[in-house]
Amino acid sequence: MITIENLHKQFGSLEVLKGINLKVEKGKVVVIIGPSGSGKTTLLRCLNALEVPSKGTIQIGGLKIDFSQPADKKAISALRRKSGMVFQQYNLFPHKTVLENVIEGPVIVKKENRQAAVQKAETLLEKVGLLDKKDAYPFSLSGGQQQRAGIARALAMEPEVMLFDEPTSALDPELVSGVLNVMKELAEEGMTMVVVTHEMRFAREAADEVIFMDQGVIVEQGRPEELFGDPKHGRTRQFLQLIQ
Ligand code: ADP
Repeated sequence: MITIENLHKQFGSLEVLKGINLKVEKGKVVVIIGPSGSGKTTLLRCLNALEVPSKGTIQIGGLKIDFSQPADKKAISALRRKSGMVFQQYNLFPHKTVLENVIEGPVIVKKENRQAAVQKAETLLEKVGLLDKKDAYPFSLSGGQQQRAGIARALAMEPEVMLFDEPTSALDPELVSGVLNVMKELAEEGMTMVVVTHEMRFAREAADEVIFMDQGVIVEQGRPEELFGDPKHGRTRQFLQLIQ
């Protein structure tokens, strides 16, 4: 479903991604862990074309872009539509209700019929446990509820892949599990997911593969029981000791 080859990203003279190669099969969940500043967010943002890579190729589904050539805007917006992104901060439109937030993309961007979009949004809100809050405004929701609304909003665009950038980092501890449970359900339904998180329990329980990144490279990758149980690299071991 996703193939990344030799991906580089530079910000000025700072090289943040130094040749990333990664394959994610359809329906698999890949969790990316690693120290702050190692390039995890930048990698996700490149996948969603929020950052334009300096070099390398990204293929999602049937679309492949080689960033060694200047990529055209159409290809970049097509890439953006392949994935739905959930951010650390919920990024809901504050002046719109939950339902309006969820139908915004389908109606405005995809020009879907409003009634059909509302029906689909209600199904998604039920799935994330928020149907009773559909007419509420974001400010009246807890962080966990806002984040679940964010997930419904991303799903409404029917992406082939879901990208999660530390979706629970800004939440009070008691709200984390509600969001993780929604993510686990999505995974069980066969959604292809790339998740940057510090939630090692989620990684152990839901990941098919865990990637450890440090200083712009993938240092190690493997099944959760391999990477957590028997890390091969000193840098991975050191990181895991620090966070456990
Ligand atoms: P992580 O998600 O692993 O914490 P990031 O991808 O956020 O790492 O950041 C990697 C490095 O890239 C950091 O040194 C960060 O300061 C730098 N960086 C990220 N975004 C930008 C940007 N827009 N401009 C300049 N530097 C950036």
